[in-house]
Amino acid sequence: MSPTNTKSSSLNLRKVLLFCIVINFVYLLAETIFGFCIHSMGLVADAAHNLCDVAGMMLVLTAFKLTEPVPTHRFTYGYKKAAILLVVVVAFVLSVLGVFIILGGIHQIQMPRLLNGTVIALMAAGGVLVNGITAFFIMQNKKRTSKAHNAFRNILVDALVSLVVMIEGVAIHFLGWFNLDAIIGFVIVGIILLSLFDLTRSAIRFVLDGVPAGINYEQVVRTIYTVENVVDVHHLHIWSTAPKTNVLAAHVVVKNMDEANQVKDQLGKLLESEGISNLTLEFEVDKTKEEKPTE
Ligand SMILES: [Zn+2]
Repeated sequence: MSPTNTKSSSLNLRKVLLFCIVINFVYLLAETIFGFCIHSMGLVADAAHNLCDVAGMMLVLTAFKLTEPVPTHRFTYGYKKAAILLVVVVAFVLSVLGVFIILGGIHQIQMPRLLNGTVIALMAAGGVLVNGITAFFIMQNKKRTSKAHNAFRNILVDALVSLVVMIEGVAIHFLGWFNLDAIIGFVIVGIILLSLFDLTRSAIRFVLDGVPAGINYEQVVRTIYTVENVVDVHHLHIWSTAPKTNVLAAHVVVKNMDEANQVKDQLGKLLESEGISNLTLEFEVDKTKEEKPTE
């Protein structure tokens, strides 16, 4: 793929993501309000679950947006870690919604109230539709960018959750199973907690400059040693400065300083294929040979 193609496809994905975020957000806001108005915790939970994935899409979008601005003299990495603020805000909103859903559900089971199954089913059907549209648009880009993969998978789960709530609405309408709404609400809160756990874990890893998910420290060390003329590597750090932007810093000992450039090029290619896009290397000459002629 040529650079121009990559650029235009990522530009395309950006527009698609922005569109999907907007329609999902409008929908989840309406669903939350309706959910609270008709006391359906299933609907509120479905909306909260939707918010998880809207946040996921926003993270992918910020990964594009925030890696671009020219870093300033005050913030030399730009504002890449601003993405973390998004995670904190979303985690907070989801926790509040989760508490409401659980309390509302318990209240509903203790003092059952008539629920309008038709409105629940219609509202959830809207969710299936919105997620269907989102999945369709993201699928167009899925083939071209790996960044769309996770977003796509999440949207499918979203559509499925909305479908379950829709069936719940139908069951309430025809069978009068009012407690089902609370139970479905609890289950969805459980699913949200799992996503939240994942999201928080990656946020903590990001803040603490941990080795990014999907990168194996030992494997990277082994890769570095496969390059000819590399004698030793130390002070090795691998972290990420933005989602999908993994960097590495290390001291690399080479047999001869003349080979440093060649080693650098080779390391760049090899580590790029392991997901590390940015290297900061300091080269040192192997002095042990001169000091200790025999081992
Ligand atoms: Zn050193």
